[in-house]
Amino acid sequence: MRKKDSLKIYRSKRDFERTPEPSGAEIQGAAAVKKLTAREKAKLPIFVIQKHAARRLHYDFRLEVDGVLKSWAVPKGPSLNPKDRRLAVPTEDHPMDYAGFEGTIPQGEYGGGSVIVWDRGFYLNITQKKGRILPMDEAIEKGHVMVWLEGEKLKGGFALAKIHPRPGEKEAWLLIKMTDPKASASRDIVKTKTKSVLTGRTIEEIGKNMSSPRKRGSSSR
Ligand code: MN
Repeated sequence: MRKKDSLKIYRSKRDFERTPEPSGAEIQGAAAVKKLTAREKAKLPIFVIQKHAARRLHYDFRLEVDGVLKSWAVPKGPSLNPKDRRLAVPTEDHPMDYAGFEGTIPQGEYGGGSVIVWDRGFYLNITQKKGRILPMDEAIEKGHVMVWLEGEKLKGGFALAKIHPRPGEKEAWLLIKMTDPKASASRDIVKTKTKSVLTGRTIEEIGKNMSSPRKRGSSSR
């Protein structure tokens, strides 16, 4: 049996732009990640998820693409359950160094509120089109992205799919965990894992530090 073609029939029966079922791509993704050396991993694009207590709490999901962070605001945060479809509203591209930002944006400023780096790591683009990997910029343009995340909290395949807005509605996407060994229907990861992967602090702890009045010229920033 030729191993190479063994998933051909499975794939040919499904349109992976319409179903979140595994295409086999994420399994290849996992295998590919395992083979990488530390040096090769360091060259992969990064992802970051920032928990942001703005007017409404949300999680900013960001992927490095062509030197910027492509961004989506996910009100409920990511889920490990492939049955959950988490709304993901595209927001403006952010600069790469934003990935390390943790702190409090002053009230009255755009996005005022505290931010923690909830998860970070690197990702592998596993978006397939006719058996080949579609470059990220094209995948985003088409409104269908699949990535294998290697974060501290999140691992495995995640799909981002643009939903067709009704006239007058804003562009919206869905963030969906792909079905793979890292999926879980019972673990509520945003409830059980609340701390920053950078500093171990919760968003409430960061907010508290800022509640005392700040002096002008203070060196604390
Ligand atoms: Mn935000």
